[in-house]
Amino acid sequence: MKNKSVNSSRIPVYRDAGFEFSDADTTKDAFAQETENERVPGLYIYSRYRNPTVVSAEEEIIKLEESSWALLTQTGMSAIDIAVSVHQHAEATRPWLFFSEIYGGTLSFTESILKKRRGVQVSYFNPENEEYDLDLFARVLRDTRPGLVYIEAISNPMLIVTDLEKVIEMAHSEGAAVIVDNTFATPRLCKPLALGADLVIHSATKYFSGHGNITAGVLCGNDARLMKEAVEYRKFVGHMLSPDDAYRLQTQIQTFGLRFDAQSRNAEGITTLLDKHPSVERVWYPGLPGHPTHNTALKLFGGRGFGAMVTFSFRGPSDNEKKNRRDKFIMAVSDSIKIIPSLGDPRTIIMPVESVWGAKYPDPGIIRMSPGFEDWNNLECIVSGALDKVK
Ligand SMILES: *Cc1c(COP(=O)(O)O)cnc(C)c1O
Repeated sequence: MKNKSVNSSRIPVYRDAGFEFSDADTTKDAFAQETENERVPGLYIYSRYRNPTVVSAEEEIIKLEESSWALLTQTGMSAIDIAVSVHQHAEATRPWLFFSEIYGGTLSFTESILKKRRGVQVSYFNPENEEYDLDLFARVLRDTRPGLVYIEAISNPMLIVTDLEKVIEMAHSEGAAVIVDNTFATPRLCKPLALGADLVIHSATKYFSGHGNITAGVLCGNDARLMKEAVEYRKFVGHMLSPDDAYRLQTQIQTFGLRFDAQSRNAEGITTLLDKHPSVERVWYPGLPGHPTHNTALKLFGGRGFGAMVTFSFRGPSDNEKKNRRDKFIMAVSDSIKIIPSLGDPRTIIMPVESVWGAKYPDPGIIRMSPGFEDWNNLECIVSGALDKVK
């Protein structure tokens, strides 16, 4: 796929919408072959079906998730759409069970697309005291007999870690397929396919691309039949990633491990600053022994880390005082740390949780932070300086 005439070491951006054919017979062969097997090497027809730059970025993801295949999409949401749609057949009447602490966009998709428009029966499995009770999960599985279970390896924004190995085993024993959103944990911490998950999705907008300059998603799996269905769905619905964004992803993902490790180290550092500060009421970080799912995180991530997200809240006692402290902190860091509704960027970004998920998390003192990979000494200065202004 390299451009041999200019001895380039990189994959170019193939911006072709359609690829060229020399005559009618080769055109016919190509279309026939493509219908039969979507992944014939070197077979390119139309970029909504398949594009060499996109395939090259997919190969990077296959290496990271150790999957048999990976399909890139324009956004994380389109990867989720494909993942659930390949399980939605006309004859399938079993309900679906979604763990309730998931990305807000996924909840909206479930409510307004799956339930309202597609008539899928979806119920939610709720945590108790910021932890999922797997004995209760076993009972719910037996009572509702879902065809599909959907879970995030690390939940947003309270960073609940669940024993995926057990969840997958329990779901499978009741005949349910399992989709895991691995965006927060990343393959650096766990590889759900190796634990038996049927499909893994990522918002590649976040850590995989890691520079806040594209939106992208990816769906990974090992099962050939699911791949065939997913390829078909992506092609017919048009969820394909653009070659330009695939190029950016292909380049930026090469530093994913370095970035994630540096971000995780900064997250740990910030956790230490926050944890001992008198104005901070609570810190949610799976690496802290006090986090409700610390032991599960230790087991699932095997000491490889605890992720790069930190959630924390300012002390009250009243909501007004919490809000004041939060706003003082946001103001004090605002030259360096911006409010941006995303995560995994090079620079530290924050989200006031109540502003977005107020119905679910009404505490106005809570901030979700995605530490970047700035030099720790600078970041420490900015955060501890701001904390000192929050009396
Ligand atoms: C951002 C995000 C998504 C959605 O991804 P987009 O690229 O915004 O479509 C899904 N899951 C999680 C956990 C996310 O953080």
